[in-house]
Amino acid sequence: MERKRRLIGLHLPSAPLEVREGIEAAMAGERLTPAQGLALYRYASPPLLSLAASYTRLRLNGLSTYYNRNGHIEPTNLCRYQCSFCSFRKERGHPEAWELTLEQIASKARKLQEEGNTEVHITGGVHPEWTFHHVVELLQTVRQAAPRLHIKAFSAVELVPLVRDANLSLDVALAQLQAAGLDSIPGGGAEIFAEEVRQQICPEKCTAQQWLEVHWQAHRLGMRSNATMLFGHIEGYADRVDHLEQLRRLQDETGGFNCFIPLKFRAAGNRLGVRGEVSTLEVLRNYAVCRLYLDNIQHLKGYWPMLGKRNIPLALAYGVDDLDGTIGDSTRIYSMAGVEDQQPTATVSELRQIVLDAGYTPLERDSLYQAV
Ligand code: SF4
Repeated sequence: MERKRRLIGLHLPSAPLEVREGIEAAMAGERLTPAQGLALYRYASPPLLSLAASYTRLRLNGLSTYYNRNGHIEPTNLCRYQCSFCSFRKERGHPEAWELTLEQIASKARKLQEEGNTEVHITGGVHPEWTFHHVVELLQTVRQAAPRLHIKAFSAVELVPLVRDANLSLDVALAQLQAAGLDSIPGGGAEIFAEEVRQQICPEKCTAQQWLEVHWQAHRLGMRSNATMLFGHIEGYADRVDHLEQLRRLQDETGGFNCFIPLKFRAAGNRLGVRGEVSTLEVLRNYAVCRLYLDNIQHLKGYWPMLGKRNIPLALAYGVDDLDGTIGDSTRIYSMAGVEDQQPTATVSELRQIVLDAGYTPLERDSLYQAV
């Protein structure tokens, strides 16, 4: 190992020891310890993080930068919970509240397929009255309307209360959803696993343990899923490392996560917003540490509706290798929270050009990261 480290040839006399060790370990392909992860968050400078994260992304994915053709369906923004960071939820009767009928959902799914998309991403509020049976019907409706679309639907946060209210075990419920058309599970709702933080920002939604159980069970049934982390609110660096550590452990066990998606807290239109937002530089540093820590999750997604298109080239220099998709102005979650791209949509040629201009190789993928 010493030989490998020497070959890297870094001259870092002024960097703290744990930062040096973390950077060298990551570049030698070794697993970071929680203490090294924390040291990188606290003390590593942007150039060091960019160097190590770029090296790691080259080892894992070469210059390939993935995107897909996708659209979202957000069935409702009514929600039985009141997370303090949420700008999406509205009360019934509010002019910006909606709940789509199955016919409306079918029509949206049909349109997405006709437009040449390969994936539909379905997620929204935890509707106060919708039942497990309704969600099964919804999936069957989408499957029938758009048989060629990969259906990535319903975060663990939406699934846990539905399954509980239906008195079903998780494995039986997920198998029924799979039979109704569910192909994979999005990564939303993970927020931050640390219980003290969760209690402050989203005390009503499912626990970290429940979130992890849903994904573990889905992986056991052969479904893939994604994982997220909401950062830049009241959490500390130790909470971020704890979050990454729990995901890394689950991935060691199942290998079922396709990608990891850090999501920056955005401040507009929610109760937590008075705290402001972290800087773009902090977003980039976070990408890099996530890339280095999650050595067993192949892809790191820079979700561009959160990031802003103009920041994509920067994200690519901090370990990101996936941009999500074309979106087609089909999601309101981040635009309601005050991002720059108020109507998130990108053409394939636009995404490809951004990637090419940044010096990487654009590659269209399907939902399982196979080249299209
Ligand atoms: S974040 Fe999700 S669960 Fe929380 S209030 Fe908003 S829509 Fe509901």
